[in-house]
Amino acid sequence: MIIVMQQGASETEIRGVEARLQELGFQTHPIYGVERTVIGAIGDKRNGHAEVILNLPGVERIIPILRPYKLVAREVKSETSCIQVRGVTIGGEGVVVMAGPCAVESEVQLIAAAKAVKEAGGHILRGGAFKPRTSPYSFQGLEEEGLKLLANAREATGLPVVTEVIDTRDVEVVERYADILQIGARNMQNFRLLREVGQAKKPVLLKRGLAATVEEWLMAAEYIAAAGNHKIILCERGIRTYETGLRNTLDLSAVPLVKELSHLPVIVDPSHATGNYRMVPPLAKAAVAAGADGLMIEVHPDPARALCDGPQSLTPERFAALMVEIERVATAVGRAYYPSEGRVRKLAQA
Ligand code: PEP
Ligand code: MN
Repeated sequence: MIIVMQQGASETEIRGVEARLQELGFQTHPIYGVERTVIGAIGDKRNGHAEVILNLPGVERIIPILRPYKLVAREVKSETSCIQVRGVTIGGEGVVVMAGPCAVESEVQLIAAAKAVKEAGGHILRGGAFKPRTSPYSFQGLEEEGLKLLANAREATGLPVVTEVIDTRDVEVVERYADILQIGARNMQNFRLLREVGQAKKPVLLKRGLAATVEEWLMAAEYIAAAGNHKIILCERGIRTYETGLRNTLDLSAVPLVKELSHLPVIVDPSHATGNYRMVPPLAKAAVAAGADGLMIEVHPDPARALCDGPQSLTPERFAALMVEIERVATAVGRAYYPSEGRVRKLAQA
C-alpha cells in the first residue's frame, strides 16, 4: 500500500509513520515528490493495520496498489523520476543520448568514439567491458582493463559512463569505475544480480529481456527498487517475435505504455533492436516522437573493424547527422535536446 502524507508533512511525521510501519512488519520506502511525500509500504496487507496508520500524525490517506509492482508504479508518484548523473538529467525535459561502441576494444578506439559522441552532442558514453556474448568463442570484453579505459575516456571528455555488469561478483568493481550500471537483456530476470545492483548507490539501466512482457520487465525493476535503489532507467531494446527481417522487433508501443504504468524514465536502443545501422536513425527519431526520455546508440570509429556489433554501429559522421535530426524531432514534439558542450562550441563557430 501507499501512505500519502499530507502536503507539508514534517520530516518527524514521515519518520514516525515509517517507524510505526516497520514495527508492524512492513518494509518502507519513502518517495519524495515535488508536492508531497508518499511512503511505499511492502508487507502482509492481511493484517488490517490501515486504521492505525491512518490515525498517525501527517497521514492523509492510504491507497492500495493493485498491480504486482508497487514502488515503480505510476500510482506511487505522478511525476516521472529524474535521475541525475554528473550533471545530466535523465527523465527531465531533455532527451538524453547515450552512445559509444558495443565493446571497449582499446584506448585508441574508445577515445576516438568518446570524442565523436561528445562532439556530436551525446551526453553519456556507453561501452561494454564485460560482454554477454551468445557464443563462448566471441570476444568477451576487456573486463577491469576496459573499465579503466572507460574512466580515462570520462576524464578526457567529461562524459559520464554507462557499462554492463553481468555477474554479482563484479558489481563492486563496475560501480567503482562506472556512473550507471547496465543490466543487459539476458540478465533481466537474474534476480540475485538485480538484488545486488539494488544495493548499489549508482543508478541502474535495466534493459528489457529478449522475451519479457512489460509486466515482467517492471517486476524486474521492482526487485531493484525493493532492494533500496530507486534510481532506475528502463531501456527498450527490441524483443523476439515471429518477424525475422531484423535482429529483433522494436516494441515502440512499450514506451507510452510504460510511461503510463510507471514513473521510471524509459529510453530506447534502436541499435540492438535492429542489428542494422540503416534502421537506427528512423527508429531513433520515432522513439523520441513516441516520448522516450533518451536513446542508447552504438557508435564506432571504424564499424567494419569492430570486434562486436559492427553492422549496427553508426560511424561518427552518421551519428553526428542523426543528432541534428534528433534535435528537430525533439523540438517538434515539445521536448528539448541539449547538445553537449562540444557541439554547442561547434555550432557557435559555424
Ligand atoms: C549492450 O547494450 O551492450 C547489449 C549487450 O545489449 P542487450 O543486453 O540489449 O542485448
Ligand atoms: Mn552491442
